Amino acid sequence: MNDFRTGGCACGQIHYEVNGPVEFSFHCYCRKCQRSTGGGHSSAFAVANEDVILTGEIKYYSQPADTGYISYSGFCPNCGSPILSKTERFPDRFYFHAATLDDPSLFRPEVVVFKEQAHSWDRANILLINADK
Ligand SMILES: [Zn+2]
Ligand SMILES: [Zn+2]
Repeated sequence: MNDFRTGGCACGQIHYEVNGPVEFSFHCYCRKCQRSTGGGHSSAFAVANEDVILTGEIKYYSQPADTGYISYSGFCPNCGSPILSKTERFPDRFYFHAATLDDPSLFRPEVVVFKEQAHSWDRANILLINADK
């Protein structure tokens, strides 16, 4: 698999390049992701932040997660596109929103998390790459 990925926001002010492996990919149905994406869930992939080159100024909204650690929702202050999230719990990782990719078809969701918080209008019954995991 090609481990080079690029992406950014709607207005182009924020751009990123990932030069390393995707650690895992997921759909998250937690309330925080619902709010930060404006939809029923977020779709994201985790990468080591040392493998990422970011250009543009990301603004972060921070809030405590259920785990007690602070989580950060990063977005473009100009166009408002959600770009990535970070957590104090795993400070070496970025979680990029899948649709920020220049080619979102590269996204391969593997797991669903916080499925119990899914709404009936957005059920967590999507096809996963490794559904048996
Ligand atoms: Zn933007
Ligand atoms: Zn979430």
